[in-house]
Amino acid sequence: MPDLKSEDFQKKVSHLIIRNQNVVDILTKCQSACSKICRSSIKTATGCGCLEINATKKLASVSSDEMTGISGTLCPECREIIENEIGEMLFYIAGLCNAFGLSMRDIMKKEIKNIEVLGKYSLR
Ligand SMILES: [Zn+2]
Repeated sequence: MPDLKSEDFQKKVSHLIIRNQNVVDILTKCQSACSKICRSSIKTATGCGCLEINATKKLASVSSDEMTGISGTLCPECREIIENEIGEMLFYIAGLCNAFGLSMRDIMKKEIKNIEVLGKYSLR
């Protein structure tokens, strides 16, 4: 597949989003997709066990692995599930952008600019 552009993705979503074209439906689907990402992420530790997730307060000086709270590597099955859940989220984010007449590309460009300006002080 050649490089996928966000415009192509948004266009594809606009043709395929059939049952949830109303913005309220799209918003609830985004919320549902986010919940699925959370659940499948947690299930990597509590169900599969391929990851260990630790939720403790960390100091800024610890390694990036310690900052994420994740130890281990996603197994192929969990990776597939999480990729699918994130893909569903992206589908509905694209649908939301379409409903509001927004460009995902413009939003990403704006966000990159914010990140570059604020750096770690964006406090995200
Ligand atoms: Zn797993």
